[in-house]
Order: sequence, then structure tokens, then C-alpha cells
Amino acid sequence: MSSGNKISLGGRIKGLEAIDKAHVWHPFTQMKDWAQGDPLIITEARDCFIKDIRGRWYLDGVSSLWVNTLGHRKKEINAAITAQLAKAAHTTLLGLANEASIELAGRLAALMEKSFAPFSAPPDKKNKKLTRIFYSDNGSTAVEVGLKMAFQYWRHKGERGRSLFVSLENGYHGDTIGAVSVGGVEMFHDVFRPLLFDTLKAPSPYCYRCGLGLEYPACGLACTGPLEDFFKTRGQEIAAFVLEPMVQAAGGMIIFPDGYLKKVKELCEKYGVLLIADEVATGFGRTGRMFACEHEGVVPDILCLSKGITGGYMPLAVTITNDEVYGAFLGGYEELKTFFHGHSYTGNPLACSAALAVLEIFENEKVIDGLSPKITLLQERLKEIGAHARVGQAKSLGLMGRIELVEDKPHGTPYPWEEKMGWKVALRALEKGLFIRPLGNVMVLMPPLSISLENLDRMMDMVHCSICGAFGG
Ligand SMILES: *Cc1c(COP(=O)(O)O)cnc(C)c1O
Repeated sequence: MSSGNKISLGGRIKGLEAIDKAHVWHPFTQMKDWAQGDPLIITEARDCFIKDIRGRWYLDGVSSLWVNTLGHRKKEINAAITAQLAKAAHTTLLGLANEASIELAGRLAALMEKSFAPFSAPPDKKNKKLTRIFYSDNGSTAVEVGLKMAFQYWRHKGERGRSLFVSLENGYHGDTIGAVSVGGVEMFHDVFRPLLFDTLKAPSPYCYRCGLGLEYPACGLACTGPLEDFFKTRGQEIAAFVLEPMVQAAGGMIIFPDGYLKKVKELCEKYGVLLIADEVATGFGRTGRMFACEHEGVVPDILCLSKGITGGYMPLAVTITNDEVYGAFLGGYEELKTFFHGHSYTGNPLACSAALAVLEIFENEKVIDGLSPKITLLQERLKEIGAHARVGQAKSLGLMGRIELVEDKPHGTPYPWEEKMGWKVALRALEKGLFIRPLGNVMVLMPPLSISLENLDRMMDMVHCSICGAFGG
């Protein structure tokens, strides 16, 4: 950096842009378009704002892709990571244990007890308590671990025929091959079809685009019919049903009707199918409860968590299961019942220390209790926006919001995806000082949980103005 002082800011920006365009391959990005634009280079962040290299601040309307819950540069999280850094940055969990991962596992187990005990009280469900924590480092691997765990569990139970997974259309579980196999977002997943293992896809409870034309509860949750048919006809072949509880996030922020998740759980119980809940997006307060499963009193067999677990500070994930699943892996060494899975950064102490600080803050600051005025404000503002002629549906659960743009409101006709309508609105928002990233025609609203009421209101002003600016009205 000795020459740093001599280069003008303009020169420094040009240099970074050139390197970015020459060498950084951005995720989910058409790089031909990217190379023609000016990348926003972020240099600093604070609270719910991010600052670019030119000194402009933007509201972080997507929580840095859904990971940041408590704001940027939260004192206690910074301090926890720094304190851990002074002790050890990383030591392995393969053959060793470490302080931070032990403490976090204890704390997560207690959190599971607190969140799920009300729904799993009967003594016969004792071995269904979520007590066993398997570490990895991102949402996709948390799901891979869950799938492999379920698969191997049935082998050890002597039901080798149970090797099939059921998942939902519009589901998203990450980008590794197993996670893509259970994914259901055509645009992301279709090209990889020949590489994937076979799964059964049940319809998504996407009420806004449900062909029945009936409002819940008149529909009687007809969308669970095909799922039950799978369980009925092929139940003996099914290892697990995997879904994102309450909200299908990357598939378009699709919010479930009441009763759907509960019904799904009943079907899993009835047919002896394991339930894998992927709460990578919904976990840690996003839906207004600590975990989305709590909305319907559902205890999954396997729970996948990542994104919010460290407040967006460090990569970390956990796959949590019960003693029934865990117990099936115990045996003599020569029986080869070991769970053969692990990653280099499994149980990373820096990440675990960040997560410990996050859980501490959730408790000390009563984060979940503090959400309700924000949840109400978001609902109210979305109701106004929902009146716009180009908005088909504006809806939220907790602090996860969706605005679906449509070409023709009475018929719900979507804009052709090639028109990039979501992006056109997002660009206007950026000009006003709000960073959001749409999913096709769906504007995604996912502010940090810690956002103030004022900033949330400002954010919704910017969203509303951007929609009016793009379409008029
Ligand atoms: C983001 C996401 C994943 C994948 O997590 P990564 O950390 O990006 O691998 C998996 N499941 C859900 C529900 C997600 O939202």
C-alpha cells in the first residue's frame, strides 16, 4: 500500500474495477452484462447501511443476502470474534474438540429445547428432541449433510429401500449437487438435470398462482394431495421430505397458507417419512419467530441452519437432529455405521464465537419480542403498495416481504422474465439509496432484524417510489 497515497481515488476505483472485471467471477451473474456496468464496490458497513468506495451510503435491504440479522459492525459480535482470534483462529473437529464449538452446541441444544419443547412434550417423543449438532460451513452443505444423514439412517435401520427424497416445486436448498437435486427452481436447476439424482416433486403451496382459484381455507389445502399420493404409493421408498418451512425464499418468497406445514408434518408421521426442515433462510427470527417451524408447532427430524446463525459475520452452518437418528449411527467400529462426512472448516472457532455472541444478543436484547412493530409496519406498507396496478401480490411473514410485479393484474399475467422487470425497479431503488436484489418479477424485502422503524419506513418509501417510478402511478 506504499503507493496508495499517490493514487487518486478515481485511479484507485478504476484499478479495482479493472481487476474485478478481469478476475472475479460473480455468483448468479451474467458476466457479459456485469463487465459493461460499473460495479458497486463496498468498503464499509454500519448498522443497516453499506458504503461504496465513492462514499455513498445505501440501505442494505437484503441483509447482505439474508445473512445479516443484527446490523453491521455490531460491537459484541466484533468483540467475540476478536477475543477468539487472540486464542486460536481454527483447529479441526476431526479428532479434536474446541471450546467455542462445544459451547455453541450446548447453547443451540438449549435453544432447541426452548423453541420446540412446547410441541414435543409427550414422553414417547423424548428421542425426537433436537439435541445433536453437526457442524458445516454453509447452507448448501447443511442440506447435503441432512440428506446424507437421512439416507444413511434408513440403511442402518435395515430399510435400504428408502432412498428417495420428496421436495417441493419452487424449493431452493443450495447449489451443491445434492441440494440442487432436491431443488425446484427451473431457471437455476434445469441445466444440471442430467447430473442430479431422481426426486419426487410435490406442488408448491403458492396460493397466488394456485390453479384452483380458491382462497384458503376453502381450498382445503388441496396442494397436499399429490404429496400424500407419493407417500401412499411409494412411502416405503421414501427417506425424507425436505422443505423450507413457511416461506420458500429463493423460489420467490412464497408464503405458505396456515395449516400447510402442520398438515405436511402429520403426513410424514403417518407414513414414517423423515422431515428435513431447511431453515437456512427462515431461521433466527426472520419470520417473526426464532424458527419458522414454531408457527405451526412442528418439530422436524432434521433441521438445517446457516445464514443468520452468525449474524452474517462468518460462514457457519449446523444440521441438527434427534437421538433417534443419531442413535442409528452408533455401533462397533467394524460395523461401519460412522457418519462419513466432514469439512475442513467444520466447527471453526471464530465462526462459533460469532454465533455465541449472536445468541447472547437475541436473548439480552429480546430481539424476537422487539420485532412486532416492524412486522406490522412492513405489513401496512405492503398493503399500500399492493394497490398499485402492476403489483399482483404484496405480502410478508415476519420481516420477509415479497412484491410480485405483474403485467396484467386481473389475470396475474407475469412479465416475461427476459424483461428483467425486478431489476428495473431495483435499479431505481439503488439510485434512491436502497440496495435490493429481486428474484425475477418478485421484489424481495429482507432488512436486518435490527433495522429501526424509521429506516424501515424510509426503505418502504424508496421501494414504493421505485415501483411508481418504473411503471407510473
Ligand atoms: C441460501 C439458502 C441455502 C444455501 O445456503 P448457502 O450458504 O448459500 O450455500 C439453502 N437453503 C435455503 C433455504 C437458502 O435460503
